[in-house]
Amino acid sequence: MTSKWGITLFNNFPNCIKFLDTTLRDGEQTPGVALVPENKLRIAQCLDELGIDVIEAGFAAVSKGEFEAVKLIATQGLKAEVASAGRGTKNDIDAVIDSAAQVMSLIIPTSDLHIEQKLHKTREQILKLTAECVTYAKSHGLKVDLLAEDATRSDFDYLLKVFQIAEACGVDRVTPCDTVGILSPDSSYDFFTKLVKIVKVPVGVHCHNDFGMAVANTVAGLSAGAQVAHGTINGLGERAGNAAIEEVAVALHTLYKKQLRIRTELLYSTSQLVSRLTGVNTQPNKAVVGENAFKHESGIHTQGMLANSSTYEPFPPSLVGRTRHIAQGKHSGSHAIKADLASMGIKPTEEQFQEIFQQIKELGDKGKNVMNADVLGIAENVMGLSGVKSIELQEMTFSGGAKTAAQASVCLCVNGKTVFGTANGVGPVDAAINAIKDVIKETEAIELEQYNVKAITGGTDAVVEVVVNMRKGHRIVTALGIHEDIVKASMDAVISCINVLTTDYSNTNTET
Ligand code: MN
Repeated sequence: MTSKWGITLFNNFPNCIKFLDTTLRDGEQTPGVALVPENKLRIAQCLDELGIDVIEAGFAAVSKGEFEAVKLIATQGLKAEVASAGRGTKNDIDAVIDSAAQVMSLIIPTSDLHIEQKLHKTREQILKLTAECVTYAKSHGLKVDLLAEDATRSDFDYLLKVFQIAEACGVDRVTPCDTVGILSPDSSYDFFTKLVKIVKVPVGVHCHNDFGMAVANTVAGLSAGAQVAHGTINGLGERAGNAAIEEVAVALHTLYKKQLRIRTELLYSTSQLVSRLTGVNTQPNKAVVGENAFKHESGIHTQGMLANSSTYEPFPPSLVGRTRHIAQGKHSGSHAIKADLASMGIKPTEEQFQEIFQQIKELGDKGKNVMNADVLGIAENVMGLSGVKSIELQEMTFSGGAKTAAQASVCLCVNGKTVFGTANGVGPVDAAINAIKDVIKETEAIELEQYNVKAITGGTDAVVEVVVNMRKGHRIVTALGIHEDIVKASMDAVISCINVLTTDYSNTNTET
């Protein structure tokens, strides 16, 4: 197989590639992450919608809460199969049986290092244990996926023996785990090519990201004939994490033209939900779901982008449920700023434009992150525009205590009219933003895309900086709020964003 550009691609892919998501098991093993059963269920429902084939919901024997979570997910009637992980002990297998999970991810180590140092057992004992555990789990109606721990650092012939004895006992699938991420794309291809020639049941690929190659190794394993890609949303997992499902799926779809059950347009919303519920934000430059994945600032790039988006995007943001964002800054070119101004109906003269352009560059040179709200402010200033904001905050009050929900009431001036809104939220910031959304929803379909906060100074009276991204249709804009009070900073940022999105000078002649 060769790509459109004449580059050879490995192509011993199986006819049908399946996905096993382990965000709720391996992903939850990320330090500092613990999900309550209701939140695990929300993620599982989202993964089911996404088109995941097997959802590993947890480790049933680990705790009472974990058992409840697996059971809750396993009894929802999801389209996906629900799996629980467990070790090779009767206690662990019984927990999986009782949890109502259909599949057991049976974890048994196969490297001498793990067998001898961790379990203080011999290779022979592990072979016997594998046979007993697979037989026991199968006799209780479970499907069994044998996860050979540290398989890639195991003696290959011994690993095969373990898999073959498991096959003889009726195992449904075997997955050699690259537990410490030591594969590379070429060794992964070689390893799986050898394995699938001998093993008769479907083979899974389970890669860790210690060398940043988990996704590449997963794709290489599949291209060698492995059938099931294991991974997590956002690449969550212990240490450097697991293969990121969203990256594997998009690579297979876009680079290898594979038909998948994954609804790629749901990848971004799934990623956002997992970030929110786990409290682990993705790095801005992360592929597919990172904040900057479809953001363009530099002048050369934005000029190309505005002419034809494929100049600097290998796939359109809509593929993964996102929209493009042209950011302003010192690298901005005149095309991008003109486009931004035009979207607000602002048409400066060439002289005015040069002044606006210069001021934006100066802001960027001072190390400032230039927001769309800054561009609007500068343009209004340079062009002497009235600067009448459609929304202004007049008053805001809060109620709520340690045990009651936060409630915010806002009084806004919207296009000259005084309007009141009230809403609840998980805390004062959430309640206040909800109250503003409540007021504007009558007239504007504006959504909050992203909310980031950082303290600039220390202490409880620290100055906080809040950056929000808001979207109206396909347009995303950013604004900043700075204040000692986090609620006030948040309100300023949100209201600035709404004002940018609702600014329309097109009916006034701005060419002065
Ligand atoms: Mn793992």
